[in-house]
Parts: sequence; structure tokens; C-alpha cells
Amino acid sequence: MPFSDAQEATEIKEIGGSPAQEEYMKNIINEFSLTTEHLCKIRTRFMKEMDKGLEKEGCTVAMIPSYVEGRLTGHERGQFLALDLGGTNLRVVLVTLEGEGKFKTVSTKARVSDALKNGPMRNLCDYIAECIDTFLTEQGLEDKESELPLGYTFSFPVLQTKINRGTLSQWTKGFACTGAIGKDPVMLLQDALLRKHLPVKVSALVNDTVGTLLSNAYNKPNTLAGLILGTGANGAYIEKISNIKKWKDGPTKSPEMIINMEFGAFDNERQALPLTRFDNKLDRESINPHSQIFEKMISGMYLGEIVRNVLVDMIDRELLFSPKGTFNPNVWSKEISTMWAFETSFMSKIEEDDTENLSQTKEVLDTSLNLSNVSVVECRIVKKVSELVGKRAARLAATAIAGIVSHCGIPDEGVDIGIDGSLFEFYPSFKTRMYEALQELFPEHSDIRTKIRLGLAKDGSGVGAALTACVATKAEGTKVV
Ligand code: ADP
Ligand code: MG
Repeated sequence: MPFSDAQEATEIKEIGGSPAQEEYMKNIINEFSLTTEHLCKIRTRFMKEMDKGLEKEGCTVAMIPSYVEGRLTGHERGQFLALDLGGTNLRVVLVTLEGEGKFKTVSTKARVSDALKNGPMRNLCDYIAECIDTFLTEQGLEDKESELPLGYTFSFPVLQTKINRGTLSQWTKGFACTGAIGKDPVMLLQDALLRKHLPVKVSALVNDTVGTLLSNAYNKPNTLAGLILGTGANGAYIEKISNIKKWKDGPTKSPEMIINMEFGAFDNERQALPLTRFDNKLDRESINPHSQIFEKMISGMYLGEIVRNVLVDMIDRELLFSPKGTFNPNVWSKEISTMWAFETSFMSKIEEDDTENLSQTKEVLDTSLNLSNVSVVECRIVKKVSELVGKRAARLAATAIAGIVSHCGIPDEGVDIGIDGSLFEFYPSFKTRMYEALQELFPEHSDIRTKIRLGLAKDGSGVGAALTACVATKAEGTKVV
């Protein structure tokens, strides 16, 4: 629930800081808190932007048709490869779909270096092909007679033209490979696989949100949407074809299609989101200024940096780590002055710290940020700042779900929402805070948890990509695509 003035005053007092610190905290609590009323306003704009995106191309919320039609039966079977290029890691997964919503996976993970993220696209594709090659050898599948269908989870804005064709419109999340924008990521990867003579066919291009939705739907038939709350933030949901006014590709087999919303770009126009000066600073210094504004307030890539921006502002005002008139070497911590050095996972560790003297927080600040001898009051301040940023992110993520659900309507049996990503999985209280916001947004339902069921769709992109590859292969076999 939003803070009442009295609650807020007590919380500030409990920090035990100086009057100047108290004053500062009061201000940032106001800047980062979102009232129910504000959430409602954001939802309204979100729904309008959804409608706009469904009507025509080139809108802020792109609402991209995924070419994945209809719903799963739960009986899908077979062996598939899935490849997930999500942001932080590259994963190769061998998925065995066993039917009845059951599956088995074996996977391998590799880091994508900054050099690969910013170098030629061909190098990145060759690296991916090499990872697949090694994995197939490990699994004894390198000499397979028939081609393995691969579902390629490529989580960047792609305009799809078929289930395995599309063009990359822009990079996000710190990627900037040359020679990729305007090209088809499937063709680029397939060429790299051919160069290595690998028995693999890229049969589906999948956004991670679509994969998450499908993997959740494999055993939860009431699944309406899939969300990613990891490096980035985005969602997909099932839409009626008749609502996709911009659809021009002729009749479809099913009356429904999954839409990849690309909602990270929501409100790039800054009409509804309460951006603080810390958000503005982050945006200005990012590699994609003025874009992905919503994502920058929500996702794992950015939350730690927002916290760092607040802490640095406090340092500059001599409110933190350097009491006036004394020399404190902490101010010279190189790490606290370095962009992106405050990782979102630190916030998780700090928020879950329930020791009386905040020893865990102290430890994180010491070992990860080279800030030694931090006082308990300062630890409380850092914890409070993390809470403000983390809570705002959860409430905004919930508002996106509320927008989708309000757009589609809630059936009596309720809906399931599959969510993948380390932020949702590991950040303490993220889900609870999302439910709190949802309850505020749907006061007409006495227990919103029974109507909008948020669930971790772990490994969503792997299994989901395999399911998409399965659907695509079936469709191809019966010549319906
Ligand atoms: P991706 O989105 O690239 O597929 P993940 O879902 O693992 O990958 O998300 C990675 C993001 O999650 C990173 O931005 C990282 O900062 C954040 N993250 C990782 N661990 C945690 C954690 N324990 N708590 C909060 N955020 C985390
Ligand atoms: Mg992912």
C-alpha cells in the first residue's frame, strides 16, 4: 500500500539519520513512491498504447505479431534444440517434450563477452555455432542423420514475417553488433551453422516472452501472458486476430495469435511515468537514450544503477560515507563511482538482510564496492534506497500485467501469468509487491491472487522455444504455413 504520512515519518525516524539525511530521505521517498491513483493512470495509458500498437506499425509499444497461432494441446512431443540469446548469457538447451505437459532438459551456458556484443554480427553467430557444436558433441548428437529443429530465442525487437523469418529493428540491453540491423537473425545464424556443417535447422524465431508464455501454457491452459523480468522487461499475451487491426497477412488457422508487446518502450514520450532525475541521468548515459524508458525503471540491468545514482548524489551532498569536516576514504571508492558497478543482485542481498546491525549489507558494501567501515545508519539508508527502487519496479511491472488483463478481461476461472527472469526469481518480495499493486488496481476482486496467478516459468525460454519449434515443424509438415 502507498505510504501514509505518519508511516513515512516513522520509517524515516527509524533510520536514525541526521536532520539533513532525514530531509533527503523524505524527498526521495516521495519521488519513488507510486500511489494507487498513479498506477491506475499508468494502466490507462498502457491500454491506450496497446490499442495504438495493434492498429498500426511503428508505434511506441510495437505489439508485434509472433506468428504463433492458437493454443497448445499439452500433448506436444519430440526432441528439439533451443537457443537463448537473452542478454547476460547464451544458453543451448536440448528439450525432450514428453506430452501431458511434461518435459526434460539438458543445457549448457556461456557468457557473451562485451567484445562479441559490440563486434561484427558474424563473429557472434560463429561463436553461437561453436557453442552448439560443442554441446551436440557432448550429447552425442553431432552425427545425427535428420536435422534437429531449433527454436531460436532472440530477445530483441524483431519484425517477424513468418515463424522463422524476421528483421532486427534495433538492439537493446547493451548489444550493438554491427551488420545486424535490418537483417534476418535466423538467416545469419543458419549460415553460421552451415559453415560448421551442423545438422540443425532454425525452425522458429522466438521472443523470450512468447517462449515463456508457451512454456507456462504447456501445463497451465489458462495462461494468458508471459513476462520477462530479467536483464530487460517485456511481455507477450494471447490476442484475438480480429483485434489486430494492422494484420494484413490473410486468414489464419486460429482466431488467436500471440503478440510480443515490446512494452519496454512504453511511455518513451514520458507522459505518465514519474521519472526522477536519477532515471534521467541513467537514460542519458545509456547506449540507447530516450528509448526503453519503462524497461529502464523495471529491469535487472538498470535497478542497481539507479540506486548507485542516488547514493552518489548523497555522497556529493556530503550526506553519505563522508560526515562533514572529516576525511573518509570511502568517498574514493572507485567502484561506487563506476557506472553499472552496483549490480541489481546487491540490492537483493541488501533487501533480504534482516540482521539487527545490517551486517550482510555492510559485507556487500565492503566486498563488492570497496566501502569499508560503513555505519549502521548508512546501511539503513542504502537499504531504504534499494527498497524504494525495487518496490517501484515491482509496482510498475504489475501495472503492465494489469493493463494486459484489463484489456483482455478476467474470466471466472482467472488467468495464469508465466514470468521468467532472475529479477522475478531472486529479488526478495518482488512477487509480493506485484500482488500488492495488483490488489490496489483491482479492488473489485477480494483476493486478486486467485484471479491473476503469477508463476515462475523457470527455464521458460528454453522449453518455450522448443514448443514453438514443435508447433512450427508440425505446421510445416502439414503444409499449413
Ligand atoms: P536474461 O534476462 O539475460 O535472460 P536473467 O533472467 O538471468 O538473464 O537476468 C539477468 C539480470 O538479472 C541481470 O541484469 C542481473 O542484474 C539480474 N539479477 C541477477 N541475479 C539477481 C538477483 N539475485 N537479484 C536481482 N537481480 C538479479
Ligand atoms: Mg532470459
